[in-house]
Amino acid sequence: MTSIPSPSPRTYDAMHARAEKAEQLAAERLDALQAIREALDIPYAATVGDDEIRTPIALARVMDAVILLRSLTDPGRLQADWYVPHSIAYLREMLGAHPATGYRTWDQVRAEQARTCRCGQPKPEGNDLCPACEKAEGAAALAALRSLAADTEVQP
Ligand SMILES: [Zn+2]
Repeated sequence: MTSIPSPSPRTYDAMHARAEKAEQLAAERLDALQAIREALDIPYAATVGDDEIRTPIALARVMDAVILLRSLTDPGRLQADWYVPHSIAYLREMLGAHPATGYRTWDQVRAEQARTCRCGQPKPEGNDLCPACEKAEGAAALAALRSLAADTEVQP
């Protein structure tokens, strides 16, 4: 007769503790990755001038992210449970000191263009032109067609 070995309650406790620790570490690493993304994934600048404002912000945030990456990859320091959460919180605090603001973003300008006609007037959503430009464009197209028709001899 075979018997299935049953773990002692002490083994269960140890397995449970290890599983909880692994879960906590996974959550911390995910939070660290999210914080690093918050640091680096900032909006693109709309123009060269905007990029001159964005670049120093981006570089400061790269430094902030590197500090967290050093913390995450330093085995000596990872012994303390508080160290990674503290390092993540520190990164987020530093990002607050280097906000990705003060420049026009590519998305902002694209949205602005989507709402503005080439003449600078607002245009209806989904249209390329404002009503005035659309009317002018239509009149010009019609004149071109009439001119073409007048130049074309009709064959009998
Ligand atoms: Zn227009």
